[in-house]
Amino acid sequence: MISEKMQQLAKNGSAIRAMFEEGKLMAQQYGKENVYDFSLGNPNTPAPEAIRKAAIDILKETDPVTLHGYMSNVGYDDVREKLAASLNQRFGTAFAAKHLIMTVGAAGALNVALKTILNPGEEVLLQAPYFGEYNNYISNFDGVPVVAKAKLPDFGLNLEAMEALISEKTKAVIINSPNNPTGVIYSEEEIKALSDLLCEKQQQYGHAIYLISDEPYREIVFGNHTVPYLPCFYENTFVGYSYSKSLSLPGERIGYLAVSPSMEAVEEVIGAAGVANRILGFVNAPSLFQKVIGRCIDTVGDMSLYIRNKEVLYKELTAMGYEMREPEGAFYMFPKALEADDKAFCAAAKKHRILIVPGSTFAGPGYFRLAFCVSEATVDHSLEGFAALAKEYGR
Ligand code: PLP
Repeated sequence: MISEKMQQLAKNGSAIRAMFEEGKLMAQQYGKENVYDFSLGNPNTPAPEAIRKAAIDILKETDPVTLHGYMSNVGYDDVREKLAASLNQRFGTAFAAKHLIMTVGAAGALNVALKTILNPGEEVLLQAPYFGEYNNYISNFDGVPVVAKAKLPDFGLNLEAMEALISEKTKAVIINSPNNPTGVIYSEEEIKALSDLLCEKQQQYGHAIYLISDEPYREIVFGNHTVPYLPCFYENTFVGYSYSKSLSLPGERIGYLAVSPSMEAVEEVIGAAGVANRILGFVNAPSLFQKVIGRCIDTVGDMSLYIRNKEVLYKELTAMGYEMREPEGAFYMFPKALEADDKAFCAAAKKHRILIVPGSTFAGPGYFRLAFCVSEATVDHSLEGFAALAKEYGR
């Protein structure tokens, strides 16, 4: 008999994954080119050639016993040294290799951070709408998610709501910018105000409140927007980074957890995080792709597909009567559903062979999420269906 906790989790499943599977069935039925699948954040841009070349070169050049062997649980020293130097150059930080733990993507990084800090019953503050997996990650360590609602209509940080929800039990706050699902980037002003609030609350309750910055979309930014780097603003910060989206490597499972050098009891935290990486069963991040990242530390992905898709979809959908904040980063948009019931709306979209995810999956009912990391053809050919759907709702 599976555990009671897993019975619940398995029942809830993932609406996004279910839709992805449904998309595959629809593709068999109607032909792949006639199904417009905006459900999953799976990049359609190939990984940069430098990455593929590095992987091949490393496989050819490196002694296989070393390459495929275990290494320190926190990852290869030389890779973490290069990474620290690169981050310090970009953000003026003071990372050393020891502050960086190579992880199994951002999901691995967040789980390591949460395992490191959470006691059962402690609370983790989120702002809705948010990436639904956070609930599962927090529940892995018997933590309790507490949810503030974003400021509407623009989904900005709602400091008042957060302040009201922070209590003695608050252990961490998770922030995700550029944001999935809204595409919002929090401004420096908002980040400063959040860090002031957390400093005040730490003083009031006499213990650390950690800020966990979930940053798989840091490099996917439109126009002149910039993404503040949280360790520059708040001492007790973890950064969960991933190469899944920026370099189109989601299946390779590679990222890192950065621990702010000025974090309280930093040595103890780093030691515990390395152990957490091991005992969660990751043991270490994949060896080959750690080495690939080491060789390609400053390689940037091609963002042109996302920029182009965002522009086309924002312009066309807005003209059809869909309302949304223009995405500033990541590859998602989060328009209002054309009826109050977002699930019914997404079901109606399916009749036009358009797969979009109900906002309620992200604790944002009344909206839908559209992942535009798809081919240009998918975007262009979907427009007719979006227009017909809008017409059904009298737009
Ligand atoms: N955090 C957010 C906001 C995401 O959207 C995702 C993946 O879609 C992840 C974390 C997990 O990313 P990774 O593939 O690096 O584990």
